[in-house]
Amino acid sequence: MAIWTHYYIPQTLDEALSLLCREPQSKAIAGGTDLLLELQQGRHPPVRTLVDLSQIAALQRLEMSQGALWIGASVPLNRVIAWPPVRHFATALCEAISLIGGPQVRNVATLGGNVAHALPAADGAIALLALDAQVLVASPEGQRLQPLLACYAGPGKTALQRAEIIVAFQVPACEKEEASAFRRVMRPQGVAIAIENMGIWLRRKDERIEDIRIAVGPSGPMPFRARQTEQVLRGKPLDEETLAEAEKVLKSEARFRTSPHRATAEYRYHLAGVLLRQTLQTAWERTQLNFAEELGPLSVKG
Ligand SMILES: Cc1cc2nc3c(=O)[nH]c(=O)nc-3n(C[C@H](O)[C@H](O)[C@H](O)COP(=O)(O)OP(=O)(O)OC[C@H]3O[C@@H](n4cnc5c(N)ncnc54)[C@H](O)[C@@H]3O)c2cc1C
Repeated sequence: MAIWTHYYIPQTLDEALSLLCREPQSKAIAGGTDLLLELQQGRHPPVRTLVDLSQIAALQRLEMSQGALWIGASVPLNRVIAWPPVRHFATALCEAISLIGGPQVRNVATLGGNVAHALPAADGAIALLALDAQVLVASPEGQRLQPLLACYAGPGKTALQRAEIIVAFQVPACEKEEASAFRRVMRPQGVAIAIENMGIWLRRKDERIEDIRIAVGPSGPMPFRARQTEQVLRGKPLDEETLAEAEKVLKSEARFRTSPHRATAEYRYHLAGVLLRQTLQTAWERTQLNFAEELGPLSVKG
């Protein structure tokens, strides 16, 4: 049985927006790696019309401009990883995307879909949050730039309206003494969502953490910023005393729960400390690298 009736491939953003407004029960589709599975498995309300976003030039942008990377929402993940500025200036994002699915999935899956699917531990979303990405959203009323978390309404629930399209992500490029890292723990047989993941961005000055952002998933209904832990770390040297205090605060502010298919809450609390120490250490060491070539191999999954 067909799971949709009409499939449109618009060439412009305006065309896509008017199709989504005009057609009842319509839905945007990019790589389809989340949406088609949900439709096939009956986990999504019926859809009559699919509006394919893959041919719209505005959503295929990969560009550095005024200290920021602009990553089009429909650029396939493999193309994002292959773009050197992501590796150089947004390393956590490059690492996170490299771990999503396998090569076949990454050939079609997109960052727009990763965020619009709204899972609290989506790898791309966690890295984007740590990097303080802004989201360019188009609607029939015009375009707006908004914080990443404004795209979320709850677990698996986007705050975006049906006729709103993510056009691109604006990611501030890391400057001198700044760096980022991403880590996750999966079940050995797992392919989709991490037991836990973490992205960290930091700025190092005079052997102290001058500024830091920590994103964790899945802690609560949407990607989580560990702001109290960040506050503990700001201005401190990276020594055992600081790490122990940060680990304690992270475990008190994060909200992990037991999920029958992945892990117990207890295990996730334990992992939070491990991921915090490892990710922080990696980001800290990277602040000393002058050239991205010195980064060495990232954890790219083949
Ligand atoms: C085998 C497999 C392994 C996977 N492994 C991982 C993993 O390790 N980590 C991980 O995080 N995810 C994983 N995923 C999930 C998935 O691949 C990602 O979430 C992917 O980034 C989704 O992008 P997509 O283009 O396929 O989205 P689609 O399935 O096309 O769309 C998903 C949702 O986003 C909406 N949407 C898409 N683009 C836009 C846009 N530009 N504006 C507004 N709404 C939009 C759609 O309407 C739909 O609701 C895996 C999936 C599979 C099948």
